[in-house]
Amino acid sequence: MHDSHPEILIDRFGRTVNYLRISITDRCDFRCVYCMSEEMTFLPRAQILTLEEIYSVAQVFVELGVKKIRITGGEPLVRRGAVDLLGRLGQLEGLNELVMTTNGSQLETTARDLKQAGVKRLNISLDTLKPDKFTEMTRVGDLNKVLRGIEAARAAGFGRIKINTVVLKNRNHDEVCDLVGFALLRGLDISFIEEMPLGLIDDHDRAEAYYPSDRIKADLAKVYELVPTTDTTGGPSRYYRINGAGTRVGFISPHSHNFCASCNRVRLTAEGRLLLCLGNEHSVDLKRVLRSHPGDPDTLKKSIVAAMAIKPERHEFDLRAKPVIFRHMSVTGG
Ligand code: SAM
Ligand code: SF4
Repeated sequence: MHDSHPEILIDRFGRTVNYLRISITDRCDFRCVYCMSEEMTFLPRAQILTLEEIYSVAQVFVELGVKKIRITGGEPLVRRGAVDLLGRLGQLEGLNELVMTTNGSQLETTARDLKQAGVKRLNISLDTLKPDKFTEMTRVGDLNKVLRGIEAARAAGFGRIKINTVVLKNRNHDEVCDLVGFALLRGLDISFIEEMPLGLIDDHDRAEAYYPSDRIKADLAKVYELVPTTDTTGGPSRYYRINGAGTRVGFISPHSHNFCASCNRVRLTAEGRLLLCLGNEHSVDLKRVLRSHPGDPDTLKKSIVAAMAIKPERHEFDLRAKPVIFRHMSVTGG
């Protein structure tokens, strides 16, 4: 931005939006039970943004003051050209943090390229350390491949790698201490996530699987001393440190702790919808803007600025009600 009065994104509630999450594909090589149905129909290629379109949107957001971009999906690394896109995004002037969330399945072969592309940090999902359970929870995944991926990311020099664990009652809730032990041993951070009701999934009862963060914390406190920190990403995580170690333990608790007042983020879905809130359907169709005004960043910019007027005040999740959000997390970009 060469303007002397750079525009920034501020919503009706005075919140500054400086963080964009981009889902670059709704496809995935896993079928995690809380995220997808076993049989999924993915979007046809023509309906998802091209890499060039994604780059254009990112560029405009950075001009509008966005400092952090997270690339996610689906599994971002199954999209051909993902690493090249990251390389281009990594060079955007004004962007301080380019980060990615991945299931780790492709890291063994891509970690070094990602580092070189300018990716600053990785969040890697890992729900269990038991190979059978891993295959059960992802329906198809291979734990050892992911563990090798985590090692490859460490070897490539990524610092502050964060493990993301969705905790489900009677599936993996008994592993939270082991997972913290895994993180401690490798100098990783770890966040425990309460499941969010995104998309209908036939064979999975979300209310039944709900395991609140406070229970996870109580389980951990039997083994580890958790020291509260003031660290924040402006999002739903609350962080603790393990006494005497660098490892941070985060809790992402959309149900038990509301985090909306400090929300600083919006999301771009794989099909080019700008979602103003994870827990609401308020959105703007940026693909339509891109395709009806090709090569016109000003119109795109105006649409993005105007979208701030419909960012809702808070999410409306309710595990016991029927989902009001019909898109899966893989479409939204977790
Ligand atoms: N495929 C990549 C991965 O798994 O890390 C990136 C996309 S995935 C949708 C991003 C994160 O969302 C993962 O950590 C995953 O565990 C989490 N997630 C998926 N569905 C969820 C749900 N219904 N509630 C809470 N977290 C969910
Ligand atoms: Fe794929 Fe990630 Fe969803 Fe699992 S959580 S199915 S790895 S997108």
